[in-house]
Amino acid sequence: MTADPVAIACALVRCRSVTPDEGGALALLQGVLGPAGFAVHRMTFAEPGTAPVENLYARIGTEEPNLVFAGHTDVVPPGDEAAWRHPPFAGEVAGEVLYGRGAVDMKGGIACFVGAALDYLAANGGKPKRGSISLLITGDEEGVAVNGTVKLLLWAAARGETFDHCILGEPSNVQKLGDTIKAGRRGSLNGTLIVTGRQGHVAYPERADNPIRGLITLMTALQAPLDHGSEQFAPSNLEFTSVDVGNPTVNLIPAEARARFNIRYNDRHSQTALKALIEHRARDAAAGRIHYALEWQPSNADVFVTRPGPFTDLAAAAITEVTGCKPKLSTSGGTSDARFIKDYCPVLEFGLVGQTMHGVDECAPVADLVTLTAVYRRIIEKYFE
Ligand SMILES: [Zn+2]
Repeated sequence: MTADPVAIACALVRCRSVTPDEGGALALLQGVLGPAGFAVHRMTFAEPGTAPVENLYARIGTEEPNLVFAGHTDVVPPGDEAAWRHPPFAGEVAGEVLYGRGAVDMKGGIACFVGAALDYLAANGGKPKRGSISLLITGDEEGVAVNGTVKLLLWAAARGETFDHCILGEPSNVQKLGDTIKAGRRGSLNGTLIVTGRQGHVAYPERADNPIRGLITLMTALQAPLDHGSEQFAPSNLEFTSVDVGNPTVNLIPAEARARFNIRYNDRHSQTALKALIEHRARDAAAGRIHYALEWQPSNADVFVTRPGPFTDLAAAAITEVTGCKPKLSTSGGTSDARFIKDYCPVLEFGLVGQTMHGVDECAPVADLVTLTAVYRRIIEKYFE
């Protein structure tokens, strides 16, 4: 296998690695990294009720600092394959653009880092000048994320592996390669509000207790602003996603009404404090008159933030040198595996341009793959200077 990032990206796209299937993607990486001198470990993690998932950890060098690149080879399903102009798992390059599921999210990013690392090693006699370079690659990011990075990090810690800084290669850029580093992500929390009343005839509301009235009162109270944002984050937001009564009868007041909601929250809240705040608001609005319950779904998506400092400066400088762009430090968007990595070392996210991810005809311009490889190469160079 070659060290050419575009060839590696094409080959990875051809692996049908829809979560939880490995699809040959990790074997392919092992085949590239092993011969280049990396110690490669392949682990399958499992848990009752979930599909077992394969993962990979590769390291070259034994010294500190250990710069780790994190990513995932699994992809979301292609949807209707007939809707694609280029088959989702063909790995075709047409008009200097690589098409296929995972081209952007994030097989392309992995290929670029592998290309950059191999090029750096080749220029330094096959070894890092100092320290170590590692890759932490999971096959369980797009799914439930139970048998992936969480367990991979625990496995690594149990072996005594330590990480100094991490680059997660998710597609962080918005319009143009170099415009955005993700230096944090909001947390995500799901809950259900259940109001109970008393069923009765709609013509005699005084004999019933309509839970829909109570639900509206509580929903209004819960939609009040949570904060005004913080230094690095937009304001937190609670959004109702469903209101459910399920009553097919026109002359019946129902006995129960529920509403589901999601909260995207910033670093002004911990999960515990946020739940307490919502429970307090519900209690105040219910004023002892509305009978309700709040149920929380378990969430492993806590907020994370990497403060601006030498590591973000180093990455930003490398990006500017290669692309001419001054990247913005952003905390927008959904969650990523950075929420797990942040407990082990500072992490930032920088990868391709996210426009087409998860879409039909997901694609990455070859020029972006070349540029991203150059950015990673420059980051590695500066990091071990
Ligand atoms: Zn991704």
